[in-house]
Amino acid sequence: MDCIFCQIVAGKIPGEILYQDEEVIAFRDINPQAPAHLIIIPKRHIPSLVHLSEAESSLIGHMVSIANQLAKREGVSESGYRLVINCGEQGGQLVPHLHLHLLGGRKLSDTLG
Ligand code: AMP
Ligand code: ZN
Repeated sequence: MDCIFCQIVAGKIPGEILYQDEEVIAFRDINPQAPAHLIIIPKRHIPSLVHLSEAESSLIGHMVSIANQLAKREGVSESGYRLVINCGEQGGQLVPHLHLHLLGGRKLSDTLG
């Protein structure tokens, strides 16, 4: 498996792990776009939102719930933050393993690109 995020899950490449449970893991983005930039992923390899079955959709709720907890821990809950899931080439997805970005700690752009 040459997926970079699967390798972080397996501990084969280092990541600053901030949270994990049976289903998900969260770590700091290696190229942060904001003072707080975390990545929350399912441990299981799901390439993108397109590949998420209806039966698995509760996973997204769990990821959002973890993001909300981490936002508090990072101190950006009050100031505000943004959650983003890029999907596919035109959606700007570079790593083909489903992931949720948590961005905060600065005023983010008013536009969504
Ligand atoms: P996306 O464009 O939505 O696919 O975002 C992929 C994100 O993964 C980017 O923000 C990268 O900086 C981040 N990233 C890539 N490799 C690593 C890594 N080894 N550890 C942490 N974050 C990474
Ligand atoms: Zn993967």
